[in-house]
Amino acid sequence: MIEIDMDSLIKLVEEKRPKLVLVTCPPGIRLKCIEIITGLSNTYNFDAIFLGESCYGICDLAESEASFIQADLLLHIGHNSALKKAGKMTYFIEAYDNISLIPVIEKALPLIKMYKKIGLCTIGPHLKKLDEARDYLQELGFFVYIGDSVPPLQKGQVFGCNYSTCEAIMPYVEVFLFMGSSRFHAIGLYNFLEKPVFMLDPYTLEVVPIEQDALKIKKRLIFNFYKAVDAKSIGIIVGLKEGQFNMTAAFKLYKELKFLGRKVYLIAMKDISNDKLNAFPDIDVFIETACPRIGEDFFDKPVLSLQYGLKLVEYLKGQKF
Ligand code: SF4
Repeated sequence: MIEIDMDSLIKLVEEKRPKLVLVTCPPGIRLKCIEIITGLSNTYNFDAIFLGESCYGICDLAESEASFIQADLLLHIGHNSALKKAGKMTYFIEAYDNISLIPVIEKALPLIKMYKKIGLCTIGPHLKKLDEARDYLQELGFFVYIGDSVPPLQKGQVFGCNYSTCEAIMPYVEVFLFMGSSRFHAIGLYNFLEKPVFMLDPYTLEVVPIEQDALKIKKRLIFNFYKAVDAKSIGIIVGLKEGQFNMTAAFKLYKELKFLGRKVYLIAMKDISNDKLNAFPDIDVFIETACPRIGEDFFDKPVLSLQYGLKLVEYLKGQKF
């Protein structure tokens, strides 16, 4: 069951005394947020607007929407991090799932028994259960490592684009256990560190060695890269979400690729979808400078991340891949 950090929420509302609050959160906890914020709005006499747009990560701020509707407080609920505030009016409120991690670890034991040194990591909802998981494994004789907080990451936390906590403990670890139901995060971890990773899903009790999935994605990224090498026209996408906005990188790619003889277009977009990309039929390949993981989704045309876009420039200048 999801629990929202009510103490921080009430303290913030009492301190700010808002009149109009914009609320954003991941879809999975939206119902819970509506229930809680509606209750609070009656007690503290404010109006609330719930943002019906995507909210994939801490990068998904909605400050421009908040200022457009003249909200005086923006609550971003459920993307836990070491930050409490961002921008001019965004306050992060944490949410946790109280499901135990022990049953899925028990299930994983036959698969991990050949390892001695284990790295543990997870995403926001399970952070409070990580120490209990470590203690359980240690009692069984494993050496267990959890990376310290590297802001904006809390201790043991990973984002889809940030694995610094795991990078720090990598030299001591033989295998990583990613606690959670997100293949996306486990795949990112494997491809970033190239160490064995198991995804342990506390809801379905599935234990998944992630290597095959991760390698399939890597192959597709490399295939897309070589398609981009032959592309005549390239669209550089500037992400319009505040936490993903990177105009400097987009312009750098734009200028370099133009210099290298490609037809290049700059395109601005908030959410990147197949339908939106297909509305540019003359463009062969896209490079997105927003979220480094978007290129792993399935699109009709190749979509490269900024990282692969920069590699493309180097490759076209004659350097090896
Ligand atoms: S940039 Fe992408 S991977 Fe990173 S937090 Fe945002 S949505 Fe997640």
